[in-house]
Amino acid sequence: MKKKSKVIITSIVTLSVLATAIPIAANATVFGYKRTTGNFNVWYDHTVAQKGYTTQVDWARSKWTGISSKVSIGSIGSNTTPSPSTDQFYIGYNPIEHHYGQTFHYGTKQDPNLSNWDYSVIYIFDNNMVADGMNNDTNKKNVAVHELGHSLGLAHTNETNSTLRSQSVMASGSDSFVNHNITAPSDYDKGELKYKWGN
Ligand SMILES: [Zn+2]
Repeated sequence: MKKKSKVIITSIVTLSVLATAIPIAANATVFGYKRTTGNFNVWYDHTVAQKGYTTQVDWARSKWTGISSKVSIGSIGSNTTPSPSTDQFYIGYNPIEHHYGQTFHYGTKQDPNLSNWDYSVIYIFDNNMVADGMNNDTNKKNVAVHELGHSLGLAHTNETNSTLRSQSVMASGSDSFVNHNITAPSDYDKGELKYKWGN
């Protein structure tokens, strides 16, 4: 009798895990909220040119533009003061090794799963790019496109389908499926952007 009830409890737990896993998986690669607008500009801190990332940040803007009619990313260079909806791009330093970039969302709660955000502050950590032999055009483009994807509301591609993950610019981690030579959104990434913003 005791043994039997244990089996029932196990199957109830299994069922509830399955039931909650389905909706989570469907939204796993986008954040719960999004920017106030997908039409915005990027302001370049002087470190972008100083560290040699201007071409790659320009590239990243262009690669996310034209997929959804609601998303268009321009530039105000580095001479104008950023407006409240302008993204800010910096090339900086981070002591955590293999940490190539980070995007901070600024809105009501600064958490892209809790509220919409107005703009993002994006960093690429050049010291780690250099340390890992990634301070080349291809890898810089990869990280710039990845981080700007976060600004647009895309989270990490964590689908168990390794093909999707190995082709996605939004993949993250240190396993062999993460390809830092990808310099543009995959079809899957484009689909996620459209899911977020519309066609
Ligand atoms: Zn990331």
